[in-house]
Amino acid sequence: MIRKRIAALLLAALLLPGAALATEAEEEISFSEEDYIELEHIDEEVPAGLEQVSLEEVPAGPVPEVISPDNPQSQYTPNFGSPYYGTDPEMNYWTLPMDITDEAAVWEMLMQPITVVDTGKSGSERAQLTIYAEPDENSRGVGVVTCVSQGVHVLETLPDGWSLIECYSSSFHNSDVKAWNMLVHGYIQTKYLKTKKPNTSYAIVIDKLTQRLYLFRSGALYTTLLVSTGLSNPSQPYNETRSGEFLMQVPAVGGFRDGSMIVSMAIRFNSGDLLHEVPHTHSKYGDNYSAYEPKLGSRASHGCIRVQRTKTPEGVNMEWIWNNRKNNIKLVIWEDWQGRQISYPPEDQALYYNPKGGEMYHNSPTCYSAVGRTFTPFTYGELDEAPFASLTRCNYCNPPLRKAEIDEINALHAPGGDHDPILTEARRQQELAQ
Ligand SMILES: [Zn+2]
Repeated sequence: MIRKRIAALLLAALLLPGAALATEAEEEISFSEEDYIELEHIDEEVPAGLEQVSLEEVPAGPVPEVISPDNPQSQYTPNFGSPYYGTDPEMNYWTLPMDITDEAAVWEMLMQPITVVDTGKSGSERAQLTIYAEPDENSRGVGVVTCVSQGVHVLETLPDGWSLIECYSSSFHNSDVKAWNMLVHGYIQTKYLKTKKPNTSYAIVIDKLTQRLYLFRSGALYTTLLVSTGLSNPSQPYNETRSGEFLMQVPAVGGFRDGSMIVSMAIRFNSGDLLHEVPHTHSKYGDNYSAYEPKLGSRASHGCIRVQRTKTPEGVNMEWIWNNRKNNIKLVIWEDWQGRQISYPPEDQALYYNPKGGEMYHNSPTCYSAVGRTFTPFTYGELDEAPFASLTRCNYCNPPLRKAEIDEINALHAPGGDHDPILTEARRQQELAQ
């Protein structure tokens, strides 16, 4: 009961009116090739249907086993806020709490088969299918799902040839149904649902809350990279990267150019949403990443996922992923539901620095930022004390954020707040238009 009450309270918090809407004048947006490609996405943070859930209707199903009364954060699963939250007793992408420290459970989830929509004549790798409000092709479309690569959560298989599913709508600016990244539920013809096994060599979690890519291999977290996911703006609310579970598609897109911006090693995972290296420019002086690289670790793209080019201590960067690209590598994206919070790392977690004039703190005793050097350990608990307080975070090995930085992100995502009022307003406009 207590757990249900917590869920109800958090739902109530989500239902509170959003924060003040953005009023800044829109900036002039110039459209370019990258815009064109990345514009094919849409996203949202608050699940479709949430506004229809009254407190009395808080999920009727049992609270999933994975949710602990001692850890309110454990209720934030990818289908948090869905009317069907708690109704699936199985552990899968949709029901597993978004906790990267539970590596065994995350790996088990990543290796599970995935149910995709495949008409057999989907043709285009960007093809999408409409999700209907009723088991009837003449009913209203509530969202869209990308064929072949996007996973859906099958909730019920009806005897009449239709299945009830849920997923984040992969609505892009030109999709039939505009439901930017909304967690929608509706009907798809059962004959189009196919189960696919992911490639087992590795798998990827992207967390929009931490703006990090977690690469898993052989049952454990192997390495962590910085990313930038989509950043919405008043004229492009659909820039928000669509959440969900996906199978990466090879042959991949490769590189493309947009005026001065060059994008390399793009791999398609959701229609127009691509995983690629952080963009750069090129001049007679060489490649220059200074316009885009400092934004890694925060939202910045038009929906694609920009990945760091510097190598982690394990030797992984976007080039590694590109060189190891295979069909059906699973990539899941975790939604940063309002209310989700980042935990502080343990006080005794080891960090590293160079006591002879080093300016950075590191996650590893060796780092590609200083090849051949071995750093001196200290602890996360000492990070805000002299002489460590003045160290900056290394952008090769990605040590944890300082507590003040974590506090800032957590404040934005505190229950009852609204960390993306632009998207909230876009959703409100969509509802008015219906
Ligand atoms: Zn480092």
